[in-house]
Amino acid sequence: MQEITISDKTFERFISEKQIAQRVAELGQLISEDYKDKNPLFLVLLKGAYVFASDLVKHFLHPCSISFFRLSSYKGMASSGVLSFKDVFDEDIEGRNIVVLEDIVDTGHTLSGFLPALNKLNPKSVKVVSLLSKPDVLQGKVEIDYLGFEIPPAFVVGYGLDFDEQGRNFPEIYQLKK
Ligand code: 5GP
Repeated sequence: MQEITISDKTFERFISEKQIAQRVAELGQLISEDYKDKNPLFLVLLKGAYVFASDLVKHFLHPCSISFFRLSSYKGMASSGVLSFKDVFDEDIEGRNIVVLEDIVDTGHTLSGFLPALNKLNPKSVKVVSLLSKPDVLQGKVEIDYLGFEIPPAFVVGYGLDFDEQGRNFPEIYQLKK
């Protein structure tokens, strides 16, 4: 589809299904090569990265495990003071080669808050994969080790990314129409 409408907003097609599939395959092959003997733990940041992650890991044909993490639930738990950061993971992080899978890095605040907390759990290594990045609005320094596409600072939906919880299901990426 050339355009989609969600609520009162119109989005136009920006990255096609074919372009996404090609880039995801390239990233998957790079990661496969780099991690073939490292039994990585892919840590998928929910909800936005779930579609990207499910396609990416199909290109990783070596031992690995996959876990999911929802930052918003961590925030809730942290404020309740009941569960620690460690408790929200269903696998041990200590000593593992962690590969964080993110949908998009915008200002970078999400990752610059999450990565130091993750590092406190003593992983062997941590690398970041992001499908998209908006370098023009990035604040501070966030290292993305494997990046799909650099995009301009306009709001995007589709391929897991939402607008008000809608639009995650579209197989292509759409950009807000000016
Ligand atoms: P940051 O903390 O880097 O500013 O933002 C990261 C998070 O904000 C992403 O994981 C994503 O959930 C959300 N986000 C940032 N830009 C966009 C965008 O253009 N579209 C959508 N759907 N979410 C975005």
